[in-house]
Order: sequence, then C-alpha cells, then structure tokens
Amino acid sequence: MDRGSGGNTAAVLKARVCAAIDALADELVEVSLELHRNPEVAFQEVRSSRLLAGRVSAAGLPVDIPAFGLATAFASEFGRDGAPVVGIVAEYDALPGLGHGCGHNVIGTSALGAALGLAALGDDLPGRVRLLGTPAEEGGGGKVLMAAAGAFDGLDAVMMVHPADRNLPSFPLIANARLRAVYTGTPAHAAMPETGVNALDALVTAYVAIAALRQQLPGSHRVHAIIREGGEATNIIPARAVGEFGLRAPRQAELQVLRSRVEACLRAGAAAAGAEVTIEHDPVAYHDLVANAPLARAFRANAEALGRRFDDLAALPAGLAASTDFGNVSHRVPAIHPMIATVPPGTPFHTPAFAEHAGSPEGMRAMLDGAKAMAMTAVDFLCDAALRREAARDFRHATGAAA
Ligand SMILES: [Zn+2]
Ligand SMILES: [Zn+2]
Repeated sequence: MDRGSGGNTAAVLKARVCAAIDALADELVEVSLELHRNPEVAFQEVRSSRLLAGRVSAAGLPVDIPAFGLATAFASEFGRDGAPVVGIVAEYDALPGLGHGCGHNVIGTSALGAALGLAALGDDLPGRVRLLGTPAEEGGGGKVLMAAAGAFDGLDAVMMVHPADRNLPSFPLIANARLRAVYTGTPAHAAMPETGVNALDALVTAYVAIAALRQQLPGSHRVHAIIREGGEATNIIPARAVGEFGLRAPRQAELQVLRSRVEACLRAGAAAAGAEVTIEHDPVAYHDLVANAPLARAFRANAEALGRRFDDLAALPAGLAASTDFGNVSHRVPAIHPMIATVPPGTPFHTPAFAEHAGSPEGMRAMLDGAKAMAMTAVDFLCDAALRREAARDFRHATGAAA
C-alpha cells in the first residue's frame, strides 16, 4: 500500500516535506552555522540544545527540555494517536579542542529539518514522529543513559544521518567497552621489599598477559591499555596501581568473550603478585551498529532521488573501527545510521579539516539533503505496512530479538 492519509500517496507527501524543508532552508543553515560557531562538548551543550529545542517550539510543536534525566537532552513527539512512531535523532556535541570535527552541527540540524518538514504535513502526517536531542555522543553515552530512561521505548524505527567523506547506506560501527582495574597490595620500604605486596607488579604482569593475548585474537579485535597509577616513589613498594583498558570487537557477543579473556589476564596479574584486584566496568559501553537493511535501502533510494550517489560499504578501507552510542539504540529498535557526503574524499573524522568543512556550503547542502532523505524515509515507513513488517523481520533476524 502506497497510500498516505486523505488519499495522499507517499510520493505526494514526500514532495510536500521536501518543499517544506526548502522553505526552511535559510533558517536551518543559520541554526547549523550557529551550532558550528559555538561548539560545546559532552553534557555541556546548553546553548546548542536550547537553540534546537527553541526552533521546535517556535514551530508550534511540544518540546520537553531537559528530557530523560539529562539537562541537555530534549524530546518532541507529535502526530496521530496510536499510529506507528518514527524516531529522528539529533546530536550536537563537539570535540574538546576540535570544535565540530565530527560535524554534529550537521546531524543536529538535519534532524531538526526532518522533524519540521514532517510536522508541516499537519493532519496528513500518516503516523507519529519523536525527535530526540541526544547529548554526549563523543564520550559519555548520552543515548545509553536516555535509553535506560525510556527515550526509545515505543519507537517502531529510528534514524539519524552522520557527515562523512562520501554517501553510504550504513557504516561499520563496532562494539566498544572500557574497563578499569584497581590493584591493591601492601606498602613497604623498597629496601625491605619482602614485607610488601607490589600492586604495580600485578598490573605489569596483567599488561604483559594482555600483550600476549593479542596474538591469539581475531584481527578485527582491539585491546588498548594504559597505566593510570603506578606508585608514588621509587623507595616505596607500590600498594596501589590502576590500569585502564579499551576493548573493541565487531559484535556485542564477541565483545563479551573478549572481555572475559581480558579479565582473566587482569586476575592472573593479581594472582602472580599476591595482590587484590577490583575490575570496574564503564556502564556506558557502546554496542555495535545493527543497520536495518530495508530501512537503509529506503533511505538510499530517497537520497539518490535527491541526486546523491552512494558507495557500497565494500568500498571503504579495511580496518575502520569507530563506535557510537547509537549502536545501543540499534539493538532496541530497527535503526539506520547512513553517512552523507559533507567533506572532501579522504578527510578523516576528528580533524580540524573535518571541522572546517562541516560549516561549508557543501556541509549545508549535506545537512538539507540529510533532512529531506530522512523525512522521505519516515514517510515511506509510515505509509507502507509492508516496509514496517520487513524492517521488523530484519531487526529480529539481526538481533535475535524475540518480539
Ligand atoms: Zn566523532
Ligand atoms: Zn560523530
């Protein structure tokens, strides 16, 4: 069924949302450039969140700010009662010292544009839309915290776009977790070491065990380690040592296995030195991205209709290993995280060059196309029951979810 409400076909509704976004283009560019000029890092996005939420409110839509327990999160939901709900995700945090080196000014404003374009359908909107302003993607895991508070409950699909050096229907985003190991020994004068228990020895033994483990891991896995505390003075046997560890694996299940193997190394170090170890897990570990194939196909077709040409994921260089808190969302709800060409080919993420291009005319074209392609994909999803069933089936298959 390709029917919208009141006899409007999806094609007619898409043309209307695109026209609405074109009419808002100057305002959206102004907002995106204002975000770009005033970068705010994780959990400090006070101006950014208020700017975006203010434009939602000015369009006559309900908006909650703060939302879901975070001061710089916001949420707006509108549309028909009881109808399917599409989530649209805004990010707007910047990087310390790098401004918008990940281009989240483009993400935040494309989400705003998509939501305002859909809202312009008024009573003809064939479902519900929930716009979520999500802080602290660059460390802090705003979406993980918001998910725990229910932000993504009841959504039937969810989407965002991310700037990149090319158009892609998805992106390889892998699972990522951090651990801290605190070793406790017994202090002693270093001239009488036999009376002490050396916590640094325990940590160093664990570090070496992890270095050996790396050879036995699949090439797609990563373990990073630093020593945060390793003693106070050379004439004291260290009674406390602290190591921090980063773990990455392509899939969440693989990360769990990796975590247990690293923990075994950490305990082995403690056992060897006779020290105690406490292992602390970062509660906001990032899951891998489960990209919903039917939704990604719909997004790609819509963006291609705007004149964008896509690369396949196979065209990407091997070994890309970034992570995002949107991965956790994708384990809860059918989700897409397509990339939109914003910066020249080969421009790396998290660089001054990326930040510069995120505020360029090309960046603003990407922002507007991202807004339109998301709004059109939302129209597809809300109008087409078959697409909704396919997306749900793909999600169950990819995540092993029971419902
Ligand atoms: Zn980033
Ligand atoms: Zn980013």
